Amino acid sequence: MKVIVVGSSHGGYETVRGILAAHPETEIQWYEKGDFISFLSCGMQLYLEGVVKDVNTVRYATAEGMRAQGVHVFVRQEIASVDANAHTVTVKNLVDNTTRTESYDKLVLSAGAVPFTLPVPGNDLKNIYAMRGRDWAKKLKLKTVDPDLQNVVVIGGGYIGVEAAEVFAKAGKHVTLIDMIPRVLGLYLDEEFTDTLTDTMKANNIYPATGQAIKQFNGKDGAVTSVVTDQGEYPAELVIQAAGIKANTDWLKDTLKLDDHGLIEINDYLETSAPDVYAVGDATLVPFAPTGGHSRIALATNARRQGRIAAKNVLGDKTKMPAVSGASALSVFDYHFASVGVKAGTADGLGINTQSVFVTDTVQPPFVTEDAGNVPVYFKLTYAPEDGRILGGQIMSKRDVTANINAISLAIQGHMTLDDLAYADFFFQPGFDRPWNIINVAAQQALLNK
Ligand SMILES: Cc1cc2nc3c(=O)[nH]c(=O)nc-3n(C[C@H](O)[C@H](O)[C@H](O)COP(=O)(O)OP(=O)(O)OC[C@H]3O[C@@H](n4cnc5c(N)ncnc54)[C@H](O)[C@@H]3O)c2cc1C
Repeated sequence: MKVIVVGSSHGGYETVRGILAAHPETEIQWYEKGDFISFLSCGMQLYLEGVVKDVNTVRYATAEGMRAQGVHVFVRQEIASVDANAHTVTVKNLVDNTTRTESYDKLVLSAGAVPFTLPVPGNDLKNIYAMRGRDWAKKLKLKTVDPDLQNVVVIGGGYIGVEAAEVFAKAGKHVTLIDMIPRVLGLYLDEEFTDTLTDTMKANNIYPATGQAIKQFNGKDGAVTSVVTDQGEYPAELVIQAAGIKANTDWLKDTLKLDDHGLIEINDYLETSAPDVYAVGDATLVPFAPTGGHSRIALATNARRQGRIAAKNVLGDKTKMPAVSGASALSVFDYHFASVGVKAGTADGLGINTQSVFVTDTVQPPFVTEDAGNVPVYFKLTYAPEDGRILGGQIMSKRDVTANINAISLAIQGHMTLDDLAYADFFFQPGFDRPWNIINVAAQQALLNK
């Protein structure tokens, strides 16, 4: 069997890996239009902050390594179109500008997404960057050490925007973080958490300008000088656009069914509208466990899970994509947070009723002092008012207690309720936590409130 895999990031890599692991004799052609396979944007912040020194190591696989395992790797070769009836693709070689046709038995698309460009005057000025992929990583790295750069505006207060803002604040720049929604990280965390994080950002040279819409970019001699919103003008010698992504699917619109956002329509088995064509990753929706519907959750975790399922199905299985809950985590200076599922702040948009309980505690028993690391932990548990089914959780502390959110993710996936969590057995060791884990405490409190 001959399988063609398009895209070398998370979804593409996992598909290739999955096929190789189960059936190494499969003929796999793996295409990447960029000049580098398997760059991981997830590692960009670590690279930009100097924790990881070499941009070329931020990857899962090398072309040579995969070729040694029998995979036919094609770099700087773009799949320009798909003829689903003929089971062929047109390959454009971007080095010599030639094209050729390749046949496939199965085709897996992990073409991902590109950063959204704001459609406002001045968006073609120089020094308006994005934070995705190796090329931008290299350009941004140069800016972190540019002594002439003083003012950075980051557009988008999601986790990518916050990562970018932190990189440049740590590099000594004045950073303005603009978002349309009223709170930075508002899609990930409720107010009890974002208030603290916003104060932390301000104390570290990041100035949130939220609830504002971008109107235009001003420039001089072709380079950006400021960003104008409906409420103010912010100086900027560098702008980083992190205001969402656009599915990289324009080239597929005559071949596959796409939704209104350009996302590829897939079924539970990751099959597209064309026979033997599968799609995974940021250009698709994922089944969302808390609601039972489908959501757009652009995470590597989802792309990897889909890649694994696509590999199985390409090889003849009929495995359904399991529902996910969108667990994610981030550090903002000395705070670590994680969240999963539904928040009080996102429930209305999803059309569901929720109740939440917010609890604070210290990480360890009271006899351990704060000097010894016994800092506060903040936790919010969100559940269905009618039956106490767990729908989401958020946690934050200066100690890294984020892994608790993985337990909430399991609780969502397993349809657990407050009763299940109230007395669930979690370990106690005074060096780590308290006899009642914060999840127990929150569930017990929620049961009292009911
Ligand atoms: C800064 C940043 C930090 C992130 N951090 C995290 C994190 O910590 N945890 C997490 O879970 N997620 C994180 N993500 C999200 C994660 O990176 C994405 O969800 C993931 O990369 C999606 O993978 P993908 O395979 O769908 O596509 P993409 O990563 O978008 O890659 C698609 C690839 O396909 C190639 N391609 C596209 N079209 C063609 C074509 N026609 N022919 C050939 N090649 C093509 C592209 O060049 C690209 O290399 C982060 C993202 C960013 C930008």
